[in-house]
Amino acid sequence: MTEAIEALKALAGGFATTFKHLFRKPITEEYPEYKRPLPERTRARIILTRDPDGKERCVACYLCSAVCPVSCISMQSAQKEDERRYATWFRINFARCIYCGLCEEACPTSAIQLTPNFETCEKDILKLVYEKEDLLVDHGGKDKEYCFYKYAGIVTDVGGKGEHIREDKPVNVKSNMP
Ligand code: SF4
Ligand code: SF4
Repeated sequence: MTEAIEALKALAGGFATTFKHLFRKPITEEYPEYKRPLPERTRARIILTRDPDGKERCVACYLCSAVCPVSCISMQSAQKEDERRYATWFRINFARCIYCGLCEEACPTSAIQLTPNFETCEKDILKLVYEKEDLLVDHGGKDKEYCFYKYAGIVTDVGGKGEHIREDKPVNVKSNMP
């Protein structure tokens, strides 16, 4: 008898939920006619951004490539006359990318960034291999003012290496060699 009452209660609960939804306004979104605005931090299509002065941010350090869990980033580094490094070619295979965002986290120059653009489907899987010319944009993406060279390697007037308060003297790395 108790089991029958429990079953009836569950049944009534189920019908009550169905009944409640009968009078609700549907919230179906007619994609692609309506595209819901996505947050700026949504992780989809990747771009390579530029510094405020228009120079390529990527210095071909390979960090994004090393951290990528599915090994879908590859590139070749080179150096300009002013000793600034750059990638002669830069390739991302979006057929393998899992949009984890680790490349963006690892990038010291804020060059590689994920964008909310998720509409990158292709019938031909080879079209999902993007080259540098497909990735490089002419703006700074999420952080338009950031410039790696404004912060890295800058000499300050508060002393050299090992001269700051509570800072150890630099280690001679060759003294650590066996
Ligand atoms: S988002 Fe993740 S999987 Fe895609 S390229 Fe970056 S590190 Fe690799
Ligand atoms: S995108 Fe960033 S992490 Fe990747 S090679 Fe260029 S500078 Fe290094």
